Amino acid sequence: MRSIRREVSIILILCTISGVILSALFVNIAMNATFNKYMVNIQKQRNSRIVSYFEEIYKRDKRWTQNSGAEMMHEAYMSDYCLTLMDNSKKVIWGMNPNDIRNSNHWIMKTEGKGVYSSKTFPIKVDGKVEGYVMVGQYHAVILSEADINFKNSINQGIGLSALVAIIIVALLSLIVSKGFSRPIKKVSETSVQLSKGNYEFRSEIKSNINEINDLIKSINMLGGTLKHQNLLRRRLISDISHEIRTPLNVLQNNLEAMIDGIIPVTEDRLVKLNEEVIRFGELLNNLDLLKRFETEESSVSMKKIPLDKIIRGICKEFLNVAKENNIEIHTNIPEGYYMILGDENKLKQVFINLLSNSVKFNNKKGDIWISLDEEDKEIVARIKDNGIGIKKEDLPYVFERLYRGDKSRHKAIGNGIGLSIVKTVLDIHLARIEVKSEEGIGSEFTIYFPKDKRNN
Ligand code: ADP
Repeated sequence: MRSIRREVSIILILCTISGVILSALFVNIAMNATFNKYMVNIQKQRNSRIVSYFEEIYKRDKRWTQNSGAEMMHEAYMSDYCLTLMDNSKKVIWGMNPNDIRNSNHWIMKTEGKGVYSSKTFPIKVDGKVEGYVMVGQYHAVILSEADINFKNSINQGIGLSALVAIIIVALLSLIVSKGFSRPIKKVSETSVQLSKGNYEFRSEIKSNINEINDLIKSINMLGGTLKHQNLLRRRLISDISHEIRTPLNVLQNNLEAMIDGIIPVTEDRLVKLNEEVIRFGELLNNLDLLKRFETEESSVSMKKIPLDKIIRGICKEFLNVAKENNIEIHTNIPEGYYMILGDENKLKQVFINLLSNSVKFNNKKGDIWISLDEEDKEIVARIKDNGIGIKKEDLPYVFERLYRGDKSRHKAIGNGIGLSIVKTVLDIHLARIEVKSEEGIGSEFTIYFPKDKRNN
């Protein structure tokens, strides 16, 4: 397996190498094409210069001799081409031997080996009359001088050098860039290992300027936070359950032992009190059972089209007496309407019972409860608000957790921390969401958003 760092470096270096190879290839192709054109032009100019030269010679001497234009031979030999002078009946007056230029070192040929000999014959015209011919022959279509070859080589050397510099720069850059990837990912994997070992305090403190990696760091840190919180809840749950069970058991045991030892007399009053403890004990187990049922019965819900307004109105009526006993007034704003949703009636009743009983339980004497139902764009919104003791800011995120109870010293009401987790479980089944706003000493507001039953619209 290879590291991200190595992989990124290899990719970047390979990209640079292929970029350099491609540009070298294109530069060479373009350069050769332009160079060849340029050389062909030069040769054309050379040929017409040779023809003009022989025309001038003929104009001067009016005839051809063995020496006519022989001085051109030196230039031809030095420039790697062959000249042959012929009269107007194409009889050779003088000519160079192609083999003489074959092995010359004056010029460096374009390719290895000397190529195929080819020649072109041009007429020498004086006053519009052809007086002779000159044949120009060479071994290559294009002849490059040493300077030309050097020029081409120096361009290729330049490309090679810039390739080397580019690769070194890219290698250094890739080390820095890949560090930006690998360091945070390494940190994240270290964090996940620590979390898996139960070290829930461990976090990735590193920052990255790559969005996706930053998201990854944030998510692993969030996961750490959630695991820490779950662990806290688990411990709290165990200690809560054991505390809840131990208290009635201790009372029972102490009293029964005292009765057996004859320290306290067995009276009906005492037996009733002990029985109350057994009942409380049983209630706790019932509540845990209820929660388990709500959580495991998720699949056995019977969803029907139900009128939410009627359900809430019915529950409010049931609560009127309890509210009155506690001097609490219930204000309802549930307009007559078509508040149909798809849901399980019994389970939804339990939601409103739990919320209303909390509003009563955590209210002040002469408190108020407001219940309203509204229709928004795609949702039906139910609000249960009270001006009771409110919820502490630090408790707010956890009120829907199983067995989570607020500070017990703040109220006399005895709860078991199950009501709101049942509410959440039921609402999840109904694809509804619940939000809570609360301020200590001011009151709480629970808002439920139900998706509208689309079949009604
Ligand atoms: P329980 O009421 O049995 O304690 P819940 O799950 O219903 O359990 O509620 C969890 C906690 O949330 C309560 O212990 C209480 O601290 C807080 N809470 C819930 N509803 C209200 C409310 N209307 N006003 C103030 N506190 C509330």
